[in-house]
Amino acid sequence: MATPLTADQLVRALRAEGLTVIEVPGWRQNNRNHKGDWGPLHGVMLHHTVTPKTMSAVSMCFNGSGDLPGPLCHGVIRRDGTVHLVGYGRANHAGSGDPAVLQAVIKENYGSRPPATRHHQGSKGAVDGNPHFWGFECENEGDGVDPWPAVQVEAMVRASAALCRAQGWTEKSTIGHLEWSDWKSDPKGPDNVVSMPSLRTRIATRLTHPANWTPGTTPKPPAPKPTTPAGDTMPPRLTWLTRAEDLTLIPGSPLTLYWTSEPSDGPGQHGDGGSTFLQGALYTIELDLEFSGLDGNEYLSVRTLNLPAAGGTPVPGGSVEVDGRGDGTSLVKRTLTLTGRVTADSRLAIEVTTQGATATLEYARVQGLSWAL
Ligand SMILES: [Zn+2]
Repeated sequence: MATPLTADQLVRALRAEGLTVIEVPGWRQNNRNHKGDWGPLHGVMLHHTVTPKTMSAVSMCFNGSGDLPGPLCHGVIRRDGTVHLVGYGRANHAGSGDPAVLQAVIKENYGSRPPATRHHQGSKGAVDGNPHFWGFECENEGDGVDPWPAVQVEAMVRASAALCRAQGWTEKSTIGHLEWSDWKSDPKGPDNVVSMPSLRTRIATRLTHPANWTPGTTPKPPAPKPTTPAGDTMPPRLTWLTRAEDLTLIPGSPLTLYWTSEPSDGPGQHGDGGSTFLQGALYTIELDLEFSGLDGNEYLSVRTLNLPAAGGTPVPGGSVEVDGRGDGTSLVKRTLTLTGRVTADSRLAIEVTTQGATATLEYARVQGLSWAL
C-alpha cells in the first residue's frame, strides 16, 4: 500500500530512470476522481493500445475512446520509447479484476506469475483496479504480430521500475492487464519480449542498480593510472553529446540532462539516454542550450554535478544563470563554457532548473576536450 506520488514526484521518478518524458498540456488535471477512488496504490499495470503504427495514441489516451472517457492511463509509451503523460489521478485503464491477484500484488508473494484470474467481466466479486494501479498504455497493434521496438520495451521496463522504486515496491508489483482481467490479452507480443515474467525479470535487475543505470554497463573498476613517460602528455579526448527532443522543465524541479546522441564516435554508451559522461579527467567543454518559455525576469540555472560512481550525494559545481527573454515564447540560445575536474570515482552530469515558469528545452549539446587525470 502506498500513497500516490505527486505529479511532480512522478515526473522526477520517470526522468531519473533516464526516460524522455513529455508532459501533455493539462495532464495534471486530467482524471476520473469524480467517479471513484484514487489510491491507495498497489502496483503498475502495462497495456497495449491496439492502434496502427501510423497513429499516435496520445490524444486518444488523453481524451478517451468511444464511450470510455479519458484518461485511459497515466502515461503513453510510444514506439520510440518516449513517455507522454496524459493523466494524473484515477484513470480508466485497469477496470475490474480478480481480488486474489490484487492480494498477490500487495503481498508480492507469487512466483513468476500471479494466480490465474477467475473473475470474468461483469461478475460479482471482481474488484475495481482503477484506484490501485498506475497505468501505461504502450503503442502496439496488439495482434501478437506487430513487433515491439527494443527502445519501447526498455522504456516499459524503466517506467515500471521508476514507479516500483519510488513507491517502495519490488518487480512483482508490476502486472499486465491480461493478468488482471481474464478476457484481456495485453501486453501481447510476437515473442517473449513483452511477456510479463520476462519484463519483471528485467525490472528486478534494474532495481538492483541506481536509477540512471544503462543496461549492458557495469560499474567500471578503478582505471589503472596511465603510465605516461616523463615529459610526455596524454592527448586530449573529444566529448561531443547532443539531445534534440523537447524536454519540459518545471520551475524549481532540477533535471539532470540525458544525452541521446553521440556524434563523435557513433553509437556509444553515452549517447543512449545516459546522463553522465566524463570520469577521471580535467575538462573544458562548451554547453549549448536552446530553450523557450521564459520571460526576461525568469531564468534557467545550470550547474555541473559530480556523481559518485558508488552512489551517494552528488557534488554540485557553481551555478550559472541564463536569462529568459521578454515575451516568454522566443527561443533563447546560449553557450556556456564549463571548466573543471571530475575524479576517477565520480562521473560528470549537467543539471538545469527553471526559475519562474515552465520552459521547454529544445536542444542541448556538450562539446569539448578532456585530459585523463
Ligand atoms: Zn489494457
